[in-house]
Amino acid sequence: MTQELSVERIMNTGLLTCAPETPLCEAAARMAERRVSAMLVVTDERAVGIWTERDSLFVDFTDPEAVRRPIEGVMSQPVATIHPATPVGEAALRFSAERRRHLLVVDDAGRPRGILSQTDLALNQGLEPYLRLREVGDAMRQRPLLLPGDRSLNEAARHMGRHGCDAAVVTCQDGELGILTERDLVRFVARHPGNTVIGELASRPLMTVDVEAALIHARDLLIDQRVRHLGVLDGEGEVVGLLGFQDLLAGAEHLYLEDLREALEQRDQALSQSRRHLQLAERVIDASLEGIIITDAETRIEFVNPAFTHLTGYSLEEAVGRTPALLSSGRHDADFYRDMWRTLQESGYWRGEIWNRRKSGQLYLELLTITAIRDDRGEISHYAALFSDITHIRENEEQVRRLAYYDPLTRLPNRRLLEDRLELGIRHARRYGQRLAVIFLDLDHFKQVNDALGHALGDELLLKVSKRLRAQLREDDTLARQGGDEFIVLLNEIEAVEEVTRVAHRLVESVSAPFEVGGQAFRVGCSLGISLYPDDGDRVETLVRRADSAMYRAKQEGRNTYRLFRAEMHREDRGRLELETALRNTAETGAGLGVHYQPLFDRDSGELEGAEALLRWHHPTLGHVSPGDFIPLAERSGLILPLGERLMQLVAAQLRDWRAAGLAPPRVAVNLSARQFWQSDLVAQVRELYAAYALPPGQIGVELTESVLLDKHQEAIATLQALRELGCRIAIDDFGTGYSSLSYLQDLPVTTLKIDRSFIQQLGESRGSSAIVAAVTGLAEELGLRVVAEGVETEAQLQALSRHHVNLIQGYLTGRPVEAATFAERYLARHGAPA
Ligand code: C2E
Ligand code: CA
Ligand code: CA
Repeated sequence: MTQELSVERIMNTGLLTCAPETPLCEAAARMAERRVSAMLVVTDERAVGIWTERDSLFVDFTDPEAVRRPIEGVMSQPVATIHPATPVGEAALRFSAERRRHLLVVDDAGRPRGILSQTDLALNQGLEPYLRLREVGDAMRQRPLLLPGDRSLNEAARHMGRHGCDAAVVTCQDGELGILTERDLVRFVARHPGNTVIGELASRPLMTVDVEAALIHARDLLIDQRVRHLGVLDGEGEVVGLLGFQDLLAGAEHLYLEDLREALEQRDQALSQSRRHLQLAERVIDASLEGIIITDAETRIEFVNPAFTHLTGYSLEEAVGRTPALLSSGRHDADFYRDMWRTLQESGYWRGEIWNRRKSGQLYLELLTITAIRDDRGEISHYAALFSDITHIRENEEQVRRLAYYDPLTRLPNRRLLEDRLELGIRHARRYGQRLAVIFLDLDHFKQVNDALGHALGDELLLKVSKRLRAQLREDDTLARQGGDEFIVLLNEIEAVEEVTRVAHRLVESVSAPFEVGGQAFRVGCSLGISLYPDDGDRVETLVRRADSAMYRAKQEGRNTYRLFRAEMHREDRGRLELETALRNTAETGAGLGVHYQPLFDRDSGELEGAEALLRWHHPTLGHVSPGDFIPLAERSGLILPLGERLMQLVAAQLRDWRAAGLAPPRVAVNLSARQFWQSDLVAQVRELYAAYALPPGQIGVELTESVLLDKHQEAIATLQALRELGCRIAIDDFGTGYSSLSYLQDLPVTTLKIDRSFIQQLGESRGSSAIVAAVTGLAEELGLRVVAEGVETEAQLQALSRHHVNLIQGYLTGRPVEAATFAERYLARHGAPA
């Protein structure tokens, strides 16, 4: 615990005092000369009243006599006072609670010792970190008092008084801007210029600062230029606000006060603890908030103070007779302690940070000072160690860091953190050849809502918006607040553009539902712009800028929507979105879905051995859509589940109908994608299908690619086993394109391997293909699997296959996929007349 600064240390002792009968103008003259903001009125060393700059606003400048009257007629009384020993933190709380700008510091006897202004205080509070974090725009007064230069001094003073302004911007005759402040008015009280027009009195030119500058910059300017107000300029150079010392501090102070209140509470607790031990040792050591240890020359503890006990948990009794090793954290090695002792022996003094351990086991960081105390003969007789717990200071630093990277309102990452993450994201994406997306999001019409609601409710709305947005994103995505009503989303590891547009779509939807703020429902929309790495740029700044410009296009083209930075991508995306919508309708109604059947023949006997069911989709306006186009889309959007279920129903119904018509259909295989295979009720679904359509065991089988089975090996085996128990044949589709190893296949209960058609098509052309076919078929033979050659188109290919262990042929050569009716007509024989 660190000792807090007292008011005495920072108060202004150059107190200006005068007698009650002093003429006001004389008092003002002295204030102006000394550049102080208050005059104390005293009799018999007692303060009877105070006159401050603020009071100058209420002087009647039309009456030249007014300023010659005694000060006692216009001073404020009684004077608010504070004791010199008051901790600075408590004073700060009083300023903000009592809305004062000055407190008179008086000693026990009631004698004035100094004056404390809010400015002194705030400048001593280490507000710098906070000032660095905030911008001028956050702290400035929105509507500065603007006065035409032809107003009279008296009118101007009245205006400032009424509006509670300590300064006004004056537009002078020649168009130049000037400024009139309380401090100026004090000068005019001193040297009455008559009730002149203010255009001639204002200080010129008006010092200015940019609205986006950091507050710390404004503070430096105020101090360097020895002024107390700055005009605030926007991007166009227009004056949009006024920034005074007070404003500058008010914003930062709010943050500071929060911290302070916490610190004070902690201190109060500590005080009440140590009070209990007040009589145990000497007062001065006792009252210290720093832990104190006194040891003998052999470092055995002779005495510890209550703060020690509070900080470490060890009582005096427990500590006496032991050595400080009692507190050892084990975090420092022997070298550390050796160096410490050497320094102590040599210079009699050591100071540093050290990790120790409390009795409770908790680690804490202390700032430790050890002094060797020597006796008359110069021998070390004692060591005195003084320490304070600075763990919380470290924590404060952490908090400041948090403030630097997070938006205080929404607690989302701010622009800076976003840029850091984007930078990292780009590096990662470059290394792994991935895409990433930046989405720039701006609320529509937020300004109107904000103006109507006021800032507090506007903030609440922003908070609600940010929560809804966050809810639409994955944990790894970054949602940052860029400032105002702008947000930026960063999506990493993107494979396809529609992953991004799907998120964008969800974000728009989530914001467009009404918000309830202040008991009223509001609608705000948002416009989004998307840029992609590497398509639209490979630098942080470019990506953000392009996302921003795409957002701008979204706004122009109707709002409440999104745009991709690249127009052609946008068109493509629109097409895909249309396709997805159409597919969704189809999945719901089944309209336009059909099944084609492709025969599989035994290579040697030429008999029909099976068929593969292939999904077909015909859309009224889009026409025939190839499975190569819609299956991947269905998988990404999850529509593959309802579509797959429909396909299985169609196939089962077809098989039932064929059987009912007296035909003998072969086994039919359906394709299952990963999502379908891993759905929890797949086995139940197939079982019900068999039951509902009264199909014999094994009538319907499945085809899976290797990649489906790659992970979750054990679970895959269980599901496959269950399907085998229903009699299903299980084929590994597109074999050879994945990464299966022999050992991997061995323990999977599969029945069939389908050699991918790319190998078949290259047979006879490339030696590699033929080697692979030889290896695969050899392996299959060993494992007792049936082998299908897929995509056989020519006699030459068929010929080439004769050298290998291949059981079945599927391909255009022997039969293309065809409609059910054609399939029956061509390939199915009547029960009565089997082939
Ligand atoms: P796949 O499972 O490899 O299906 C075989 C594909 O090869 C079919 O294309 C078929 O028409 C084609 N094919 C058959 N013989 C030959 C040939 O001799 N030469 C050539 N060039 N091609 C031949 P299709 O019908 O376009 O299906 C493409 C892919 O779509 C399928 O590949 C499968 O992965 C997927 N698919 C089709 N229907 C379904 C389904 O109901 N569910 C799932 N999950 N995927 C399906
Ligand atoms: Ca297949
Ligand atoms: Ca295949």
